[in-house]
Amino acid sequence: MLPLLALPLLGLAAAHTGCGGHEIARRNPGGRVIHSRQVDNTNIDPVAECTPYTYAPVSAIKSQFPAIWNSATLVPGDADAAALFASINATLNQRLPNTVPRGTHNGDWSGVNYPPADNDCWWTWKQCTTPAASTGLVADITTMPEPETWGLGFDDGPNCSHNALYNFLQDNSQKATMFFIGSNVLDWPVQAIRAKDDGHEICVHTWSHQYMTSFSNEQAFAELYYTRKAIKDVIGVTPKCWRPPFGDVDNRIRLIASLLNMTTVVWSDDTDDWKVGIANVTTQDVDNNYMKVINNAKAGAYATHGPVVLNHELNNYTMGELIKMYPAIKAAFKYVVPIATGLNITNPYQETDIVYPSFAQYTGVGNTSDAGSSSSVSGSASGTASGSASGSAASASHSAAASSASASKGSSASASTAIPAISLLGLAAAATLFL
Ligand SMILES: [Zn+2]
Repeated sequence: MLPLLALPLLGLAAAHTGCGGHEIARRNPGGRVIHSRQVDNTNIDPVAECTPYTYAPVSAIKSQFPAIWNSATLVPGDADAAALFASINATLNQRLPNTVPRGTHNGDWSGVNYPPADNDCWWTWKQCTTPAASTGLVADITTMPEPETWGLGFDDGPNCSHNALYNFLQDNSQKATMFFIGSNVLDWPVQAIRAKDDGHEICVHTWSHQYMTSFSNEQAFAELYYTRKAIKDVIGVTPKCWRPPFGDVDNRIRLIASLLNMTTVVWSDDTDDWKVGIANVTTQDVDNNYMKVINNAKAGAYATHGPVVLNHELNNYTMGELIKMYPAIKAAFKYVVPIATGLNITNPYQETDIVYPSFAQYTGVGNTSDAGSSSSVSGSASGTASGSASGSAASASHSAAASSASASKGSSASASTAIPAISLLGLAAAATLFL
């Protein structure tokens, strides 16, 4: 066993390259009542879109969920959740008995001791995305196995004023992966429903959007479980994918997610769009981040794979930025696809009767030689994915794609350089310190 080092963490700048925290918390205190689909999707006035409303189907089930925007815990009396958690917790205690919560829910790691060998494959430490084989955990999704393919996703939705973005995507026949926050789903259920209606892929982005490795087993379970339940109850689908806020995931959290049949998705490139106005990040910086990926494509960097790019449904700026950059993205990349599509997953939900297009079907490449049949797109195109990437074997294709995609990420498990002690006082302080 390696000794624990009483050092503050390395790589903290990257630890906060995820998405924003504070400003995403929009509460819905009640207001106009919507009994059914009465929202006009063509209305792109943010004030009108974000006028609070009460949606009867949500009002009827709200007591089944943790308090909105609070750290999730098991809801008293929820026998189904309690039973599932007990089972998962037993497995956790058996397989990862020594992995414990660390830091605070808002990302203060001061006083945290962590072995530099990175035994827990903690993303926040050194962006590890490939757990040791002995854990039995699959690697996180970080890239697309398809060449010249931009994996498109949006974090932190549903945003109440997202109609302009969703209309834009619709007008361009562009689907994306939407990483939804459970509290947002209950606050803005009509907006959440639109994502599914528009054909986007829905994934989980936790209940309260805090640092997952700081949570107890029960809390981490509840953050995922109740977000998934909210998506199922409101939208009607059960996601099989999730993204950790701020990328903050380790093997314990990965195992909880995997026992809930959810694959962990992170990213290869971060636009930092959420940081504008928070930490001296300018809109020009964000443009540059987009252009870096776009220019990489032009320079041939994606001959064998594609990036998964982090951007946000967080506010009108972040949504508008994607709209602004979209033509350049489309010009530089052969394909722009939702993440499940890039992985050739045609059953992204537990509801197996819901079928999404394969990569070949989505892109219209048909039976061309570089795409092959729908059951072998990922494998043939990446050249390294050994497993089946068929849509019906979602977890297998995730695993295969991730294994190949993450090989170049480098988890840097042995770093031990000391840095001065820093006491982080939450996200804003962290962002200020490291930018
Ligand atoms: Zn987020």
